[in-house]
Amino acid sequence: MTHEIAVIPGDGIGQEVTPAAVDVLESLELGFEFVEGEAGDAVREETGEALPQETYDLAASTDATLFGAAGDSAADVILPLREAVDSFVNVRPAKAYPGIDAVRPETDLVFLRENTEGVYAGHEDRLSEDVSTLTRVVTESASERLAEFACDYVSGTEHDGFTIAHKANVMRETDGLFRDTVKSVAEDNGIETDEVLMDAFATHVCLDPEQFDVVVCPNLAGDVLSDLAAGLVGGLGLLPSANIGPDRALFEPVHGTAPDIAGDGLANPAAKIISAAMLLEYLGYDEEADAVTEAVESTLAEGPHTPDLGGDASTEDVTEAVIDRL
Ligand code: ATP
Ligand code: MG
Repeated sequence: MTHEIAVIPGDGIGQEVTPAAVDVLESLELGFEFVEGEAGDAVREETGEALPQETYDLAASTDATLFGAAGDSAADVILPLREAVDSFVNVRPAKAYPGIDAVRPETDLVFLRENTEGVYAGHEDRLSEDVSTLTRVVTESASERLAEFACDYVSGTEHDGFTIAHKANVMRETDGLFRDTVKSVAEDNGIETDEVLMDAFATHVCLDPEQFDVVVCPNLAGDVLSDLAAGLVGGLGLLPSANIGPDRALFEPVHGTAPDIAGDGLANPAAKIISAAMLLEYLGYDEEADAVTEAVESTLAEGPHTPDLGGDASTEDVTEAVIDRL
């Protein structure tokens, strides 16, 4: 079966790293059909819309989307795109690579972040000059959907269960519902879990990241804690992510448009190429996914390196090195 893949490079280095990932996928000759869509600041300047309807429809109808980055219009692009794929979980691996300077080189974590509710789906109000409020939303159904994904994610793998990070001792209703629901789904599926308060997690993961593996979190906690882990493995430039929905998914690097280096051809394509490996795994091409990940890892270990990693290679040089290793 051939797959249709939406390609939405966006702005800045999204325009450089996204084609690099497409080149890597094309080199595998899997018969994918790539369909390009426009989004971001440039198209907004032209048309007044950061995310044209055609691009939204493309992401909502293809099997998978490769997204790059968007500049000032990011919120108007990525939030609707996540909605287009009905993404209920954001998968963010944070892994240190041999040969790359990391604060904690032993870090190897995967965050499964709830992607639809919490404070980001909440409602803010300004009641008076003195008082503003925020309502957060947590549902049993969204917590269940995330928990079922987490159970599938770990079962039959080397991961033995997962950790639930929350703050249910203070937010008893909302994080309490989240924690209880995730735990009970895991129990029903015979998956082991442990739990940790999210503030304690922040300390423990810095001191000893090896005590954690797969971490399931509510939306805001997942956002903050996975960025913290990004710091432990050497910054944003190497981190991929996947927004998974019931029928389709969107893959993007964690980094943004990097306006300081955009247009120079020197962006590190690693995060985007690893995101493409996650796409392969999502579509069931496990062997190819492993091969791409290994090719990126050995390129990171042995070079060539782009300037962010202390080298002087271009995006194209690194991409070619990855394809040669494949
Ligand atoms: P945005 O507002 O789009 O997020 P930003 O200024 O926050 O843009 P990021 O893309 O988030 O920039 O990255 C922060 C810095 O990290 C960049 O300025 C850049 O120097 C570096 N960086 C990020 N990604 C890469 C990459 N793929 N290759 C090289 N350097 C990168
Ligand atoms: Mg940024």
